[in-house]
Amino acid sequence: MKNVIHAKCVRCGKTYEATPNLTTCACGGILDVVYDYDYVKKTLTKEKLAARPRTMWRCRELLPVEETTPDTPLRVGWSPLYEAQRLGAQLGLGRLWIKDDGQNPTASLKDRASAMAVAKAQEAGARIIACSSTGNAASSLAGNAAAAGLRSFIFVPERAPKGKVAQLMTFGANVISVQGNYEETFALSKKAIDKWGWYNRNAAINPYLSEGKKTVSLEIAEQLNWQMPDYLAISVGDGCTIAGVWKGLKDLYAIGFIDSLPRLISVQAEGCHPINRAIAENQPWQPMEENTLADSIAVGVPRNADKALMAIRESNGIVVNVTDEEIMAAQKLLGTTCGVFGEPAGVTGTAGVKKLCAQGVLGAQDTVVSVVTGNGLKDVANAIRFCGEPMKLPNDLDLLIEAFERRGLKTE
Ligand SMILES: *Cc1c(COP(=O)(O)O)cnc(C)c1O
Ligand SMILES: [Zn+2]
Repeated sequence: MKNVIHAKCVRCGKTYEATPNLTTCACGGILDVVYDYDYVKKTLTKEKLAARPRTMWRCRELLPVEETTPDTPLRVGWSPLYEAQRLGAQLGLGRLWIKDDGQNPTASLKDRASAMAVAKAQEAGARIIACSSTGNAASSLAGNAAAAGLRSFIFVPERAPKGKVAQLMTFGANVISVQGNYEETFALSKKAIDKWGWYNRNAAINPYLSEGKKTVSLEIAEQLNWQMPDYLAISVGDGCTIAGVWKGLKDLYAIGFIDSLPRLISVQAEGCHPINRAIAENQPWQPMEENTLADSIAVGVPRNADKALMAIRESNGIVVNVTDEEIMAAQKLLGTTCGVFGEPAGVTGTAGVKKLCAQGVLGAQDTVVSVVTGNGLKDVANAIRFCGEPMKLPNDLDLLIEAFERRGLKTE
């Protein structure tokens, strides 16, 4: 890889050759891929980029893959960035955009990391990939592995929603539903990976995965014609996504493609916010209970806290916690004003933006991008519980008229 210098431990600074199956540093710290920005500057231009296929692989100069490694088969990335005029106005923001990453092939942002894992597993010559996941890393790995002809072993906590489990079973993964929380699920996956030597897709362990996730911010910048917003809001669990988002922005800044960096807005659930608590109290993070219906971010022991905390601090970021009620209200609000259906963790970023607007932290002078990280069809049970049931009627127009009148429904 001509564009990569090495991988460097974020804790002790030790450097490692960027081999395909790198994991964590000997000190336990997480590794970060370091690029040769002079080389990237020389080889990549905005014009070159504009002409390329619309997938996450379009900016290979900023990705840690060999030139000979093929693009993965599923179309991951280049999800739409919508300007949400009505929602922005309703919240009192200057401008608001929604990046709908639920439109990836297995319907979450995790596809970006899983496609990277598949590419690196192929470079490593591995035939089997494994991970533990709250659900989306699992289903995206199973799908991207299936498309590339690799086998997968997937560990999920027993509370994983049915939609995600259905995806896993359909993609033919070997699925282990662990009777315990996410932390216990992660621990069992680690033991199994150590025993059988499978390729490890656990995001905080494998330093390449947040490089895949960073493609979301590379795209946002390009879709905004390199004019960055003031803020970028995203939901946070393990912390790999927000760390990846920040890495992508810093990459673009380093090669001179953008000339300002947004402030990150880290949004977590009131019932599980160890990373936001560490920022708010300026203390090392401490484990928390996993007490939220936003299953994808119910992470009491964040695996990538180091990188996430660094990203939030470096960006002069804002942290905000939202209740499950606020999350489900944001789901409905995105649905009714934008036609975007996100899963609970997927809309948590937007719930945070809404709350910051109500608190007067954000307002008419601010521009914001909010990333919807997963699709609502993954968890229909919670959506139905919150949004209610449809009108139920036989084939009878009089009863229909009556039902409309009872609800005061305008029909023209
Ligand atoms: C995984 C996930 C997140 C959070 O990403 P982390 O890297 O765990 O912080 C947010 N939303 C959805 C839908 C996810 O699947
Ligand atoms: Zn180290």
